[in-house]
Amino acid sequence: MPVPINGTETMVKKLSRKVSRDGAVRKPAATAEHKEVSFLESVNKMFDRAAATLDLPPGLPELIKRCLWVYQVRFPVKIRGKIMVFTGWRGVHSEHRLPTKGGIRYAPVVGQDEVEALAALMTYKCALMDVPYGGSKGGLCINPKEYNEEELEQITRRFANELARRGFISPSLNVPAPDMGTGAREMAWIADEYRRMYPSDIDAIACVTGKPPIAGGIAGRVEATGRGVQYGLREFFRNPKDVARAGLTGDLAGKRIIVQGLGNVGYHAAKFLQEEDGARIIGIIERDGALVSERGLIVEEVAAYKKQHQGVCGFPDATFVKNGSVILEEDCDILIPAATENQITIANAPRIRAKLIAEAANGPVTSEADKFFSDAGKVVIPDFYLNAGGVTVSYFEWIKNLSHIRFGRMDRRMMEVRGAHVIEAIESVAGKKVPEHLARQVKYGADEIDHIRSGLDDTMRKAYQEMRDVWHGNPKVPDIRTAAFVVAIQKIASSYQEMGI
Ligand code: NAD
Repeated sequence: MPVPINGTETMVKKLSRKVSRDGAVRKPAATAEHKEVSFLESVNKMFDRAAATLDLPPGLPELIKRCLWVYQVRFPVKIRGKIMVFTGWRGVHSEHRLPTKGGIRYAPVVGQDEVEALAALMTYKCALMDVPYGGSKGGLCINPKEYNEEELEQITRRFANELARRGFISPSLNVPAPDMGTGAREMAWIADEYRRMYPSDIDAIACVTGKPPIAGGIAGRVEATGRGVQYGLREFFRNPKDVARAGLTGDLAGKRIIVQGLGNVGYHAAKFLQEEDGARIIGIIERDGALVSERGLIVEEVAAYKKQHQGVCGFPDATFVKNGSVILEEDCDILIPAATENQITIANAPRIRAKLIAEAANGPVTSEADKFFSDAGKVVIPDFYLNAGGVTVSYFEWIKNLSHIRFGRMDRRMMEVRGAHVIEAIESVAGKKVPEHLARQVKYGADEIDHIRSGLDDTMRKAYQEMRDVWHGNPKVPDIRTAAFVVAIQKIASSYQEMGI
């Protein structure tokens, strides 16, 4: 939370500005009956489980696991006549590839532990997906709902300025993106602030991704993470052996899904799965409670209602459950936690009845709960695979910014002309017309959005198969998450070894 200068001096003094190499601030996620570890410890425990299956040189797992840098900043902004002090972090987990990459989160409760954990997940995610970045993440303690747009712009610009001045925002060193509480608007402000600071940098616009298309962004970035969840689930369902392991059959059509969090990721994932794959969204869990309907909820309608009423309570034609988190435990085919971390702990894991858990949020399942699921043979598709659509499309945006040209601009019309010639040739040889719907497809020239979707789909499929080969091929690897870590750790270890470390 922002700290007003008057009257809270002790708090101000305790939070000194510092650059530290480790020493995470522990934020326990304990329950009444069970002691849970912090988010960072949780990620590290999962890493350790995977690293133990590998024969790495001594010291290398520790080097890969630990966060290299954490920058904590406190900065003042004058709001409504009062000086407010804000606290933010930018963590750089690994520089085995540069730039480093990761979102900036705005939340009332955010801290160093969380930023380090999220930065670590970014390292593993980028390695797994063959996105050539190191991992980073940022956070600002703020409740965005307490400020108007003009104030948020002031705060964001000042935060960006503080980070950029110290190399924590830069097209070649560290490239942020949206996360919880931020979106295209904040990214546009950050890009503009950076360009003002470095007007002669021809690549300045590549300092951040997730910008609106009009401000140097790319088609399909807003929905990219949700789209990636859809593509990842489609790939899972293309593998009958894996589907059977989850106790399921067939494809996504008719599958009963519960989604937690109808924000950017959850909304897009649920919408695409419902509208394009025929899945049934039987539960939506939000902050103020959950909606349940066995007939299925229309995602667009719930999202519109939530926007208008700042919550889902009162939505017609569905049962409202005030204590929404109990709906995580309802019977369903697929549970998609898409809200925040530490939602499924050892306290509620034994009561989870979903056949498949598809992690769209970062860290929704703690390491203890994950071990429980692994031992019980329950299939969990891990976060740093399933929500990698955002960083994958961010990578495409960064490439677009550095090449200063949109995808498809050079070849779209050429493809159309070539397609028309192919149709002409077929028709002249066959002596009859090619059906119009087929002719249209052959003559189609791919636009930017087509390139993005194709690149994302390919990335999700390839990474799934890499995880799968390890999962089914290595008897020491019990589950998909451990397989994902193994793939990522091996790639990072190779990079370090190439560097002579
Ligand atoms: P968002 O702020 O757009 O949406 C989060 C939604 O979850 C909101 O609707 C909020 O009301 C709801 N929510 C929060 N806490 C809740 C709780 N305890 N119970 C029920 N609902 C709750 O955030 P987002 O960008 O969709 O991110 C969601 C998750 O996905 C985060 O873990 C984030 O790190 C991860 N993620 C986001 C992106 C991205 O591109 N935005 C990419 C990768 C991963």
